Amino acid sequence: MNEQQQAAVAIIGYGTAGVNAAIALRRFGYAGVIRVFSDTNTLPYSPILTSYYAGGQKTYDECFPWSAEELAELDLEVVQDCPVTSLDVAGHALHTPKGDFAYSKCVIATGATPMCYGFPQVEGGSYEPLVLRSMDDAERLKGVLEDDSCKRVLVSGASMVALKTLEACLNRGKQVTLVGMNPHVLDFNALPQAAERFERGLLGYGVELRLGQTIAAVERVAREGADAADGGRDWQLKVTFSGGDVDYFDEISVSHGMKCNLDFVEPGTLEIDRALVVDEFMCTSDPDVYAAGDVAQATELISGQKRIVGIWKNAALQGECAGRAIACELAGAEPTAEGAFKGSISMNTIAVKDTLFISAGTMEVTPERRVEVRETDDMTVLYIFEPLPEGGERLVGFNLVCDHDEEGSRAYDTGAMLTLRIEAACR
Ligand SMILES: Cc1cc2nc3c(=O)[nH]c(=O)nc-3n(C[C@H](O)[C@H](O)[C@H](O)COP(=O)(O)OP(=O)(O)OC[C@H]3O[C@@H](n4cnc5c(N)ncnc54)[C@H](O)[C@@H]3O)c2cc1C
Repeated sequence: MNEQQQAAVAIIGYGTAGVNAAIALRRFGYAGVIRVFSDTNTLPYSPILTSYYAGGQKTYDECFPWSAEELAELDLEVVQDCPVTSLDVAGHALHTPKGDFAYSKCVIATGATPMCYGFPQVEGGSYEPLVLRSMDDAERLKGVLEDDSCKRVLVSGASMVALKTLEACLNRGKQVTLVGMNPHVLDFNALPQAAERFERGLLGYGVELRLGQTIAAVERVAREGADAADGGRDWQLKVTFSGGDVDYFDEISVSHGMKCNLDFVEPGTLEIDRALVVDEFMCTSDPDVYAAGDVAQATELISGQKRIVGIWKNAALQGECAGRAIACELAGAEPTAEGAFKGSISMNTIAVKDTLFISAGTMEVTPERRVEVRETDDMTVLYIFEPLPEGGERLVGFNLVCDHDEEGSRAYDTGAMLTLRIEAACR
């Protein structure tokens, strides 16, 4: 490790949080070396856009929010194809397949990886279910969706990622079945009345819903009547559901949650709960290590607890906060309250074809909270109110489902207005 390496600020992960940390470091005056460790050899991509790429609504290039020219202006030393394999907090060093690198300050911004919790071992041959996060995942999904011999897809999971995968399948003309362990779709993001309206939309697009069930067994079997000479598939997947039903699919996509990418952190060296626990400047339990994005557990405004809120805006704001705080410290100053992370609020928007869902805030209905439902011909809005100690109440969450997805429509205006109302009430 040479002298130049000693001076570097290291950023592990070249995604939204990592890029925004680098932008803030430069904006707030840090002129030294910023060394970014990326486990890919591409520009930073947006996981949000992967389903649109697979579904044919975005081109490959459109999945990369920053141009090479914009990134070049940051004067970063990007170490590509170089996953950090171990972080030596005491020794201020990162271990990688390309050698060891020293750091003065380090930002962990490594995001998360899809998990297939509960997906059974496939019998009768090997099969890896489809997942969605990285561009490689998107390429594989795109290949499957462009393959005319793939006609039926089983989507397992009912979260936002599952529904985005489902939409990509519908846009490619596939026949889709969704299996979810909970009684409704939009796990943890919607109350039943909103989810039901969304489900009616899905049924209208021909989606088969198998809710309150899981996949009990999967077997790779020969496809009846398949002719290898016609270039089609000679296999399919026989799925047994937990209720005992059996059906056949060409592919299975699994969205059973995400796991933070923290395997390179030695247990006991940093405070980890579900993710890295950080203060209002994104600093972990080690004063020289910061964390931002899906890998950070920062203050969530409505509960007041430290939680992972895995959305793009948070990753960007937390990355910016970490970069700014480090620039300040390296200039010999204390980070100011103005640069502190103001806390996060969960927000989601998803449209499957013409069915729109927008939510923000909490979906936890405690005995003190009150739910109000307003329903019109084309829209259902659920409001969650919480009493205030001084009297009156504040809006802490909402769900909106609309049967039309039109930019600039009343539904989008209402969603934006309610989100602002929650933010204003919490800050
Ligand atoms: C399909 C999908 C749809 C989504 N839709 C939305 C949406 O509509 N709205 C929204 O707000 N959010 C959405 N999200 C969530 C959003 O994409 C994330 O919250 C955001 O990208 C998090 O940014 P990040 O920088 O923390 O992680 P990432 O963007 O994942 O970046 C982390 C990077 O670090 C790399 N890395 C991992 N380990 C290492 C290592 N050891 N060394 C070096 N590099 C490493 C990763 O490969 C990755 O490139 C979606 C996510 C998915 C998967």
